[in-house]
Amino acid sequence: MEEIKTKKCAKCGAIKPLEDFPKLAKSPDGRNSYCKECQKAYTKQWVADHPERAKATAKKSRDKHKDALTKKRRKDRAEKPEVFLKYSRDFSEKNPDKILLYEARKRAKEFGLPCTITEEDIVIPEFCPILRVRLIRGAIDNNRDSCPSLDRIRPELGYVKGNVAVMSYRANRIKNDATADEHRRIADWMDAQTQSTQEFNVIDPELIEFGRGLGERLLENTKRAIDEAVTGLAQIPVGSYFDKNPRLAPMSLSPAQTKEAA
Ligand SMILES: [Zn+2]
Repeated sequence: MEEIKTKKCAKCGAIKPLEDFPKLAKSPDGRNSYCKECQKAYTKQWVADHPERAKATAKKSRDKHKDALTKKRRKDRAEKPEVFLKYSRDFSEKNPDKILLYEARKRAKEFGLPCTITEEDIVIPEFCPILRVRLIRGAIDNNRDSCPSLDRIRPELGYVKGNVAVMSYRANRIKNDATADEHRRIADWMDAQTQSTQEFNVIDPELIEFGRGLGERLLENTKRAIDEAVTGLAQIPVGSYFDKNPRLAPMSLSPAQTKEAA
């Protein structure tokens, strides 16, 4: 039977199998002096104590292994598209400003425009300032209309401080590169077209139904009121009324006749 190689941890003093120590090429036995558990706790503490240096070290490592990381990401994406999709959706939901900045930088490069804004310049409101719809964070597969989108107020100036605004994707798409005057002309023209074709407009069927109901109820109430009035009149003895007001009696009814009728 093969003997299991062990090692004593320089931190906690526990004797553990060699595999429980991280690999370290420059060490004589090829393993770290701290066990995996102790090394993990030590690193965590060091990162907490030195946030700036930890950030720089992480960036250096990322830059050094950039090609390998890109390759791995591509491989993961191809092998597990659903995991990748969920990750990217979660990320864009939590960091919509980062996504907008990333897209702005890409577009600026594409169109040869300046892009000097930072994340702080991207303020995402709850509602689209133009169309008033609630802005939905996170990618939506088929309908991007309500997603936040970064607009260049004057497109030719690029993504610079004071020239960006967040609005719905739909508002941005409609605004495009038109001037305010051009938009007004389009709106005026659309209004004019709508007025000239008003007679062809289809009336809301719900409104027609409402009107019909209202008319029917009115007619019913009127009928009931007439019925009640007629019934009430019929209950008054005709003779007694004309006896008291003989001058009002119809010419065809003499006081004697009215007595008979009663
Ligand atoms: Zn240990």
